[in-house]
Amino acid sequence: MKILLLGKNGQVGWELQRALAPLAEVIALDRSGWGDFSGDMSQPQAIRETILKLKPNVVVNASAYTAVDLAEAESELADLINHQTVKAIADVCHQEQILFVHYSTDYVFSGLGTQPFTETDVVAPLNVYGKTKALGEQAIIDSGCAHLIFRTSWVYATKGKNFLKTMLNLAQQREELSIIDDQIGAPTSAELIADITVHAIPQVLANQQKAGIYHLVASGETTWFDYANFIFKQARILGQTLQVAKVNPIATSAYPTPAVRPHNSRLHNAKLQNTFELILPQWQKGVERTLAELINQ
Ligand code: NDP
Repeated sequence: MKILLLGKNGQVGWELQRALAPLAEVIALDRSGWGDFSGDMSQPQAIRETILKLKPNVVVNASAYTAVDLAEAESELADLINHQTVKAIADVCHQEQILFVHYSTDYVFSGLGTQPFTETDVVAPLNVYGKTKALGEQAIIDSGCAHLIFRTSWVYATKGKNFLKTMLNLAQQREELSIIDDQIGAPTSAELIADITVHAIPQVLANQQKAGIYHLVASGETTWFDYANFIFKQARILGQTLQVAKVNPIATSAYPTPAVRPHNSRLHNAKLQNTFELILPQWQKGVERTLAELINQ
């Protein structure tokens, strides 16, 4: 089996390089490509030609335009990467009967209410990034290709930029921090996302009834404020010296950003656990592990 991995150096892409390796021959590309093969997601035709030349059994797309605030000013580029090129991949996957694995986000939803969103809830994104991701999802579904779309949230990893690492750094420099306490979601490790992907791919290849859209998030829920406090508590348990002495909960309205964020980022994850007979652990498990890796390295 041959797998083409796009976006190999992102948080999720990096973990996929590790996790996919025992499953197949993996051709992993970043935007600079390799030889004749393009990995540049702003070039839909070049990506299409790469897939036609490589003839993989599976395309896994871990690349995305993920700069949520910048997307408000760069909507065309965000749409090109998150929607137009995703559509091009989906169309060629349909034509060549290739399984397409793709990742999406809680930001496709309105963030209204207090219940977890299910896979069948209507999308209503609040910002440009969310809109382009929702259009990418729909293009995959409309193409008719066999697909796995994993919606995830609040991704963190030892590699890359994320809330966990930012908080760990800030807490070493500052005595007082203010953190948003009215957005609720589930921190999900890139490691878990990659491992679940590797469990799901063979099952879908064996039984296409399992193809579709799934919410891939750790279990449980928290706010950014509680998440930050958990990070600080665990870091101290692990022997990390922190300067932070006061952590203030603040409302989203007190921290204006170019892109509007949803208050409710809860994603219901039962469909994935039931379909693939997998367990999505509580979010604290992965955070503890990543902190241990970061602090004890
Ligand atoms: P990252 O931002 O860590 O990685 C995205 C990758 O996409 C980077 O390696 C980046 O490359 C690459 N990329 C950007 N533009 C291009 C381009 N033109 N051509 C090729 N590659 C490009 O994202 P994550 O790993 O965190 O996200 C993985 C998936 O999960 C995405 O689909 C994202 O939308 C989704 N998601 C992420 C969340 C999060 O909190 N991060 C939350 C919910 C969903 P480079 O490093 O060179 O810029």
